[in-house]
Amino acid sequence: MNSRIECAFNEIDAWLFDGDGVLYKENEPLPGALEVLTILQEQQKEVFLLTNNSTKTRVEFQEKLSTMGVELEEKRILTSAFLTAKFISDESPNASVYVIGEGGLKKELEDAGLRIVNNYPERNDEDVFDFAFSNIDYVVTGMDRNLNYVKITRAMNILGNIDSDIRFIATNADITFPTKNGLIPGGGAMIDILEKLSGKKVEKIVGKPQPLMYEIAVDMAKCPKEKVMMFGDRLETDIVGAKNFGILACFVNSGTSSLDELVKMPSGLSPDVIINSLLDIVGEEKS
Ligand SMILES: [Mg+2]
Repeated sequence: MNSRIECAFNEIDAWLFDGDGVLYKENEPLPGALEVLTILQEQQKEVFLLTNNSTKTRVEFQEKLSTMGVELEEKRILTSAFLTAKFISDESPNASVYVIGEGGLKKELEDAGLRIVNNYPERNDEDVFDFAFSNIDYVVTGMDRNLNYVKITRAMNILGNIDSDIRFIATNADITFPTKNGLIPGGGAMIDILEKLSGKKVEKIVGKPQPLMYEIAVDMAKCPKEKVMMFGDRLETDIVGAKNFGILACFVNSGTSSLDELVKMPSGLSPDVIINSLLDIVGEEKS
C-alpha cells in the first residue's frame, strides 16, 4: 500500500517544519513525520526545518534527522543559533561575545568568526569576579542546561555596566521546551532573568515569531507566499510568525501549545489548518 499527501495539502509547494514537538521529541520522531518527509522529498517539494532550538549546530540537526532516516541539506536547516551568528557577524565582524547557551550556539558563533569570551565550562566553585568584564560587545542567550550562578552573575554584570554599549541579543524567546517527560525552561527564560537582574532590555530576538527565518526560507524556495505553509506546535512563535509574515500556518497538536490556547488566538493570527499530528497529512493511495 503506497502513501500519499492528503489532497487538502496538495497545493503546498514549500513546507516549513518546526522541529521539537512537530517532527520529533528529543531523538524520537513523532507520528507521521518520516512518512510525510519521505513523500515530500519524492515529490521534490521545498522542505525546510525552522527551529528556535539553539543547542545544536545545523550539522548536528542534519545528523539527528539522518539518524531518524531523513536526509536534509544543511542550507535547508535554519536555526536560531546559526541566524544569530549570521546577524552579529554581519553587523560586527570579529565581535566579542559572552554566551549563555550550549555547544551548538558557541560553535555557530565561532564559525561565523566571532570571539567567545567564555568558551570553557564555567563552574560554580570558581571566583565569579575573576573575569575580564570589559571589551565585550554582545551578550547572547539561548537554552542552557548547564546554567549556573556564575554565568548569570557574569552576564548580569556585563549587561549592567552603564559605561559600555554592550548589546543584548537572544536566539529565541521560547519560555519552555518540550521533552518526552514534560516541559523544561527554554531559551526565553534566560531573557527574563537577565532583564530583571541587569535592568537592560533585550534588543533583538532572532528566532520565530520574528520574520528572519521565514524570509530566508521563502527566498530560497522561490515560490509565492500562498504556496508556503509553516507547520508548528507553538502558537505564539511558529503560527503567529507565519501569519504575520503572510504565509499559511498549520497548527500541529503534538507539542507545546494546547487546543484551549488555540481558541484564545485573535482571528488574524489563527492557524489556517489544525491537525493532531503529521500523520493526518498522510493518506493511502487508492488502487
Ligand atoms: Mg516546537
